Amino acid sequence: MNYKRFLFAILILLIIISGIYFIGRENPNNSVSSPEPSNNSEVTKSEGSEFLMDTLVRVRIHDENSEQVLDEVLNKLSYLEDIFSKTIEDSDINKINLNAGVKPVKVNEETYKLLEETNKFAKITDGVFDPTIGPLVSLWGIGTEEEQLPSEKKIKETIERVEYKKIEFQENNKIFLAEKDMSIDLGAIAKGYAADYVISYLNEKDVDSAFINMGGNVSVHRDKVDGSLWNIGIQDPVRNRGNIIAAVEGEDISVVTSGNYERFFIEDGVRYHHIINPETGYPARKGIISSTVISNNSSYADALSTSFYILGVEKSFEIAQEMEDVNIVLLTKDDKAYVSEELKGQITFTVDDLEIIYR
Ligand code: AMP
Ligand code: MG
Repeated sequence: MNYKRFLFAILILLIIISGIYFIGRENPNNSVSSPEPSNNSEVTKSEGSEFLMDTLVRVRIHDENSEQVLDEVLNKLSYLEDIFSKTIEDSDINKINLNAGVKPVKVNEETYKLLEETNKFAKITDGVFDPTIGPLVSLWGIGTEEEQLPSEKKIKETIERVEYKKIEFQENNKIFLAEKDMSIDLGAIAKGYAADYVISYLNEKDVDSAFINMGGNVSVHRDKVDGSLWNIGIQDPVRNRGNIIAAVEGEDISVVTSGNYERFFIEDGVRYHHIINPETGYPARKGIISSTVISNNSSYADALSTSFYILGVEKSFEIAQEMEDVNIVLLTKDDKAYVSEELKGQITFTVDDLEIIYR
């Protein structure tokens, strides 16, 4: 009798242990929580990661409600991906693209706002930043199975379908792409917009501290829990991922890098990457191999880092110097780093084979 009870108890124990194991594995956000050693004993840390917006998004929240905040942040990011993605079938962007030249489409408020933002950057950069870059992105197919070096003729034809002025903003959050076969691609700004969106939620909830990493886009909310500043690395464009060329210190900032190492293919010794100059129809070739923008505003940092990559050193400094809170680090093929003067004291270079030029 006792023996049977013993076996029964073992069986129950096994069921409980395997239950815990599977619940742990099926946690959809892949998140973990732990108490944070700090002055405030209530503060806990929660970390989570998810593949969103074509990149591995990693989020770290320090707050007394860190777990709920983390869940909400990941939900918000997933919502934005659902409306901004050009591959998700019923996303706002896909609906606009499918109805190009046919009819206006009613979109979510966030999509309308983001498209208005893109208009602003297109104007600042004289059309170098162009959210209707879609047809050229598809033609090159960089990072997809269809990547190819297109013919000159095809490139010339496709450029004709890229023109941000043909996005019509109508009442009631309606967007109309004026011509057939045009398409919108928000790859150059969506992550920055998403980071700002999340940061504004963290402010609203008065969250203690947070770190958001979306590939080349890093944003921090406030300072670290111990009161020190965050250190954000700038990826080395030549060496493997994880190696940095510099670290930027700060709180409440966003550091966004565009580089030719993100997505590319090589043909006859030439590297064709994913940042396309809408004037030529070819991947940008102004001597820059990585362009970083540091700003409080992540949409600015994202849109401008892509634009500066195309514009080259001179024009980029001209634009950045006219704007408040836009500082840059441009790395060129000839191992030079052109750095905004304002970053002196805030940036530390960790490699010694770069010539550093403050301006
Ligand atoms: P990022 O990684 O932020 O520099 O953005 C690069 C992505 O933006 C590309 O993969 C394209 O989806 C898109 N893109 C490429 N060229 C342009 C351009 N000239 N203007 C706007 N978006 C672009
Ligand atoms: Mg960008």
